[in-house]
Amino acid sequence: MAAPGENLRINSDRLWDSIMEMAKIGPGIAGGNNRQTVTDEDGEGRHLFKRWCDEAGLEMGVDEMGTMFARREGTDPSLQPVYVGSHLDTQPTGGKYDGVLGVLGGLEVVRSLDDLGIKTKHPIVVTNWTNEEGARFAPAMMASGVFAGVLDQAEIYSHVDKDGKKFGEELERIGWKGTEKVGERKIHAFFELHIEQGPILEDEGIDIGVVTHGQGLKWLQVTLTGREAHTGSTPMPKRRNAGLGMARVIELVHEIAMDYQPDAVGAVGHMEVYPNSRNIIAGRTVFTIDIRSPEKEVLDAMDGRIREGIDTICEALDIKYQIEQVGHFDPVTFDAGCVKAVRDAAERLGYTHRNIVSGAGHDACWINRVAPTAMVMCPCVDGLSHNEAEEITKEWATAGADVLFHAVVDTAVIVE
Ligand SMILES: [Zn+2]
Repeated sequence: MAAPGENLRINSDRLWDSIMEMAKIGPGIAGGNNRQTVTDEDGEGRHLFKRWCDEAGLEMGVDEMGTMFARREGTDPSLQPVYVGSHLDTQPTGGKYDGVLGVLGGLEVVRSLDDLGIKTKHPIVVTNWTNEEGARFAPAMMASGVFAGVLDQAEIYSHVDKDGKKFGEELERIGWKGTEKVGERKIHAFFELHIEQGPILEDEGIDIGVVTHGQGLKWLQVTLTGREAHTGSTPMPKRRNAGLGMARVIELVHEIAMDYQPDAVGAVGHMEVYPNSRNIIAGRTVFTIDIRSPEKEVLDAMDGRIREGIDTICEALDIKYQIEQVGHFDPVTFDAGCVKAVRDAAERLGYTHRNIVSGAGHDACWINRVAPTAMVMCPCVDGLSHNEAEEITKEWATAGADVLFHAVVDTAVIVE
């Protein structure tokens, strides 16, 4: 089957106008958006998206998690559809593009197919996953997690926001609790276009990130226990300094992450020192280690070396330790065929591209468990995201959507 021609392009103005139109709903206070999940603003955004889908002749399905699936029929309706999309919800002080670009980029794919009179064998379904951000209701990537069977729907319905409102009731209140069972759809392939949310593509002047992996992570909470003592009168050899232990562990985590470049990262973020007094040697410290890598073996190796290192450090300082794993997410390896479709598309269209690892979580990370999946990334200014100042250029959005267009159409197979 012939690949789509390089002259096949999306309508850049229409994509950009749609993004700006959506951004009018739930405006923030500094030029961005506050369209948190299952709020009135989310409901309004969904209605606008549905209106656009209706105008494009798509058939809308909504599942019990409120996820929206807009289907463009294929010439062989019995084939599994190619899915494309992301999320329309935002952080309380979110940007105009995080998630929105992926949903409206997907809509632009089907609008462009209509303009060009192109039919595909496989149906194409444009998707808006509910509550990707996890700001109002934890966890993030909520509906895609239920869809992939990782999260329990009934349990998720009972999650409450800071005002005590339940997710399930709020979903019903805004009128977007559908009737379709979650996770029953069969997906031929899923593609998600997203802004990078990091600085690499812009720094290197590259148009397209071909996302090969998603970072896995581990959070370890460490408690070091020494002995509180006077900082002036305790002889140095007699000290059991939990603060010094923490300092050495911080250094260790950094060194270990540096041993697994370019992709691994590690840091101690949260730190508590007891009793936190200027003339008492710290008797106890509690801190969390955050390590990430796209490779499970590396993540496990880092974890092992950190535990060994903590043991050695504590023995030398005569302090005790406790390590508890408080968070964990396995690394994601995206589907080789879908990744190739993205890379081939960028190549065919003449856009510069490089492989990239997603440092943040995305709906695609969960869907990858149940269907072949890949992501397309475009740069964002200063790598800034989850911030109202989040910015991209129209050219970047266009390049990303063009690559999405080709990857989707190539996979859905053009009818000659
Ligand atoms: Zn996002």
